[in-house]
Amino acid sequence: MSAVLTITRLSKTYPGGARALRGVDLTVPNGLFGLLGPNGAGKSTLMRILATLQEPDSGSVRLGDIDVLHDKDAVRQTLGYLPQEFGVYPKSRAEELLDHFAILKGLAGKGERRDTVEALLRRTNLWDVRRQRLGGFSGGMKQRFGVAVALLGNPKLLIVDEPTAGLDPAERLRFLNLLSELGENSVVILSTHIVEDVSELCSRMAIIDAGEILLEAEPLRAVADLAGHIWRKTIDKAELPGLERTHRVISTKLLAGRTVAHVYHPEAPGAGFEPAVPDLEDVYFSTMAGHVGRRQIQAL
Ligand code: ADP
Repeated sequence: MSAVLTITRLSKTYPGGARALRGVDLTVPNGLFGLLGPNGAGKSTLMRILATLQEPDSGSVRLGDIDVLHDKDAVRQTLGYLPQEFGVYPKSRAEELLDHFAILKGLAGKGERRDTVEALLRRTNLWDVRRQRLGGFSGGMKQRFGVAVALLGNPKLLIVDEPTAGLDPAERLRFLNLLSELGENSVVILSTHIVEDVSELCSRMAIIDAGEILLEAEPLRAVADLAGHIWRKTIDKAELPGLERTHRVISTKLLAGRTVAHVYHPEAPGAGFEPAVPDLEDVYFSTMAGHVGRRQIQAL
């Protein structure tokens, strides 16, 4: 896996004082890359800087041979960006609007444009609804249309910021599968606060919080590395504060009226705990709690 996008010591503080990015280093190869973090972590700031829509205070970004912060025109020619909310034009029909965007993108030849528009509508599974108005599209269809627009001009880098909010589970899965397919030929960065979005589909991931990268890993390997470290105990809610004082509780869930606590512990933590099969949520919460981190970053 060769590094296609290299981010070095990227920092950004907003005029109000919010330190959105604090020396972010990231190496992003081809494939679907999940950038996972809670609200306010700095994801959108990073996405906007990569998309040349915002300036950092310091640091550098390279996309292959391109210096992203200084050669913005070159980046824009090879970039697709799907913002959090893709504004749609409710009265426009999908095919006509995509054709219109293709003209704006510089696809002047009518035949070439028709072929491109058809290929993109088929790829995003919108061919059958191409004559429908966008106002009648579901959330997932709108997002897929956004991807079709972002893919005009064959971008080498596709940036997708929090795309699955508001999608139902079937639409979400379909959308993530589409991104994963696109990742076969380019860098696709998916920013999200939803752990399940960064499932097996992402070949690599990073966890960001308070402007810092806490973990950079392959999702499946990060989960495997937690084997034997996550333990489960079912308790009454009232017992939780006591358990939190004595153990590293990383997450809790309600199950049939009782509380199931997940605890990070390298060996068996004692009576009443069962070993839990770790999943990506355990990776996320262990990382956010500081038990797993940078030192475990896996080499490319
Ligand atoms: P995320 O996308 O992970 O939710 P953001 O990049 O939007 O995170 O925000 C990171 C931090 O920067 C937050 O503290 C947020 O309040 C702040 N921030 C974001 N945009 C602005 C802005 N335009 N002006 C001032 N502060 C901002």
